[in-house]
Amino acid sequence: MKIRKEFLEFPPYRVVEGDYRIWLDKNENPYDVPGWLKEEIFEELREVPFNRYPHITSMPLREAIAEFYGIGPENVAVGNGGDELLSYLVGLFQGGHVVTTSPTFGMYSFYARLKGIPVLDVPLGEDFTIDGGSIAEKSQGAAAVFIASPNNPTGNLQPEEEIVKVLESGAPVVLDEAYAEFAGKSPWKLVFEYPNLMVLRTFSKAFSLAGARLGYLIANEEVVDTLYRIKSPFSLNSLSMTAAIVLLRHYDLVERTVRRIVGERERVYRRLRDYSYPSDANFLLIRLDAHGYLLSKGIVVRKLSGRLGGMIRVTIGRRWENDALINALEEFADGV
Ligand code: PMP
Repeated sequence: MKIRKEFLEFPPYRVVEGDYRIWLDKNENPYDVPGWLKEEIFEELREVPFNRYPHITSMPLREAIAEFYGIGPENVAVGNGGDELLSYLVGLFQGGHVVTTSPTFGMYSFYARLKGIPVLDVPLGEDFTIDGGSIAEKSQGAAAVFIASPNNPTGNLQPEEEIVKVLESGAPVVLDEAYAEFAGKSPWKLVFEYPNLMVLRTFSKAFSLAGARLGYLIANEEVVDTLYRIKSPFSLNSLSMTAAIVLLRHYDLVERTVRRIVGERERVYRRLRDYSYPSDANFLLIRLDAHGYLLSKGIVVRKLSGRLGGMIRVTIGRRWENDALINALEEFADGV
């Protein structure tokens, strides 16, 4: 038995475990689904037959998402997390390479590497915005272009006019909007103007359902239809889908949670202004090499590397967690 050499070159997943008090490293929602709403989910689950496979094209959830957006289910695909959809999107279209805009979410280049597709990177500018013209040039013959807005880990939205320049190239463009709810605006409706645009969203962030693993794509019918020819047939389980359908009925709660997180984000940003970039997401990029110091204080954040070496990404948590973070970072900065 010989495992393919190129797979052995992938690093193992970093498992961060330990007795830390505060976890601000995965851009999760700090507020769990409240107990009364979990009860409503459990009630619905009583009716779900555990012995049966889930709907093969996840239609009940696609219909619920479509109704929420006022679009048709033929424009919605769902995946086991946004990540599953990304794994398909990387190889869905003809083309010789994929385009990324570093520093950005690592899974685009991860899946490209896994599939042996070359990556052409067009780095973000000084202010972390995209240059639509340069990307459009590099997109000739591309299998897909991946743009995250708000971008992870920099936190900023990308300007709509720059996104449109990329769309005008005709290349398939995946606009990853995992954090869109925290930004409050999105050009997702361009999907109906540009058939080469696909918008990726997730239930992992604003909807507090990271553990359920659900992401969705808004795209033209041909893309959705093709995804349902090639995706793993039962990758979405009926338990998670039930939870998401119930949450969509209570979007007012999601909005309240988002408002709370955005309020906290602005408060933390103001306190850490000297070291922090502004953000349209549920995390902040901080110019302090404080990963180890924060760990020693029981606070886990994301350590960055490459162009963002010496910086950290911190998720906005609950108020007391943010206070602990602010205090620790102020102590750290005083000692620097
Ligand atoms: N896109 C971006 C930019 C992300 O940060 C994440 C999660 N960290 C995802 C997509 C995927 O999220 P999930 O698989 O939980 O839906």
